[in-house]
Amino acid sequence: MPAIRLLSPCRFVSATIAGIRQQLRKLKLLTLGLFYNEHCDFFYATETCLNPAFWFVDNYVRHLGPIFVCVLISLVGAVVIIAYMIVIPYEIYQKSTPAICLYLTVGNWILVNTIFHYGKAWTTSPGHPPEGDLVVESVGVCKSCIAPKPPRTHHCRICGRCILQMDHHCPWLNQCVGHYNHRYFFFTMFYIWLGCLVIIIGMWPTFRDHYWSDSPVVAWCDLLYDQLFYAPMLCGGTGEVVRPLSKQMASEWSGGADGADDKTDTTDASTASLRSFGVRGISVHNAVLFEFFIGLAIVFGIGALMSWHALLITRGETSIEQHINSEMTKKSKREGRFYKNPYDFGPRQNWRIFLGLDVPGRTFWRHVLLPSAHLPSGDGLRWRSATYQFDDQPPPSLTVVTSVA
Ligand SMILES: [Zn+2]
Ligand SMILES: [Zn+2]
Repeated sequence: MPAIRLLSPCRFVSATIAGIRQQLRKLKLLTLGLFYNEHCDFFYATETCLNPAFWFVDNYVRHLGPIFVCVLISLVGAVVIIAYMIVIPYEIYQKSTPAICLYLTVGNWILVNTIFHYGKAWTTSPGHPPEGDLVVESVGVCKSCIAPKPPRTHHCRICGRCILQMDHHCPWLNQCVGHYNHRYFFFTMFYIWLGCLVIIIGMWPTFRDHYWSDSPVVAWCDLLYDQLFYAPMLCGGTGEVVRPLSKQMASEWSGGADGADDKTDTTDASTASLRSFGVRGISVHNAVLFEFFIGLAIVFGIGALMSWHALLITRGETSIEQHINSEMTKKSKREGRFYKNPYDFGPRQNWRIFLGLDVPGRTFWRHVLLPSAHLPSGDGLRWRSATYQFDDQPPPSLTVVTSVA
């Protein structure tokens, strides 16, 4: 039987510390072996450390993509259905004939454009570098794809591919926004925003009559119960034409309070009548409020997002390039130099390029205001650079530098 050696407490502690130090040295060596790179900087190290978190988020978002798409389609679909079934029939009685014709024309134009641009943004590939071919324009190598990366191309972890002129990964499209579907993405936002703006402005009479009404029968049911075949279903009707209760009727329903002129009694009577009679058309009432407030939220929410993207387009940069250009501007300023975005051709020309109007023969009326499937100019691999013949010339003491992102 082997003898058991017992260490003294001091020797045990020192041996343990020595063992821990040895393990730490091994860990340090392993870390350096895995991550050492003479070009490594703070951002590279941060990205590497966050890779496990990125992996978790990326896989999570990937599975959530179809849910986001269904939520968006359901939400927009609900707004459109309520507009056509509830708002427009009521507004026909509130507006003049020319006004309702204009409302319907503009509304249908927006609806067609929304469906077209969302469908195209969803189904059009943003564009990828050719696989297996020589990409002579490449400015780097994607460390995920281990493949050449053309200018303005970035790798999307969620899609698992490199994207030409990548802007961002959009969960509402369940794919990336890039060179070939950037215009569709922007116009999807624009037409949803414009549609909601037109709806909340145009439905003001409907909203007013329902939001501030204390009638036990909502105004819509009172007006359209006999006019529309689906009105009885929405109003919860039984075939009986329901009219708003007058104070006297409400009083009678409540059990005969004769003092209808008294405010307290009337309120009690109305409350009692609501209990016994129910509010006819409460679903219509809720739908009108949903339509107005969801429209208002979208106008502000998507409006802010759309404004940001419009600003980036005006500057000739994508969301990713905005970060790069911002860092390059700060860095150049520290070094006493002047940085200019090489893809900024000036606001007007930037918009013309984005809209595809830099190609001869295309017009604003046909290719912007109407649904158009024209492709952007260029193949997303080769890019023209701005010549910097602009008014905002850098100070003579500074050197102009440009960078290809
Ligand atoms: Zn890649
Ligand atoms: Zn993506």
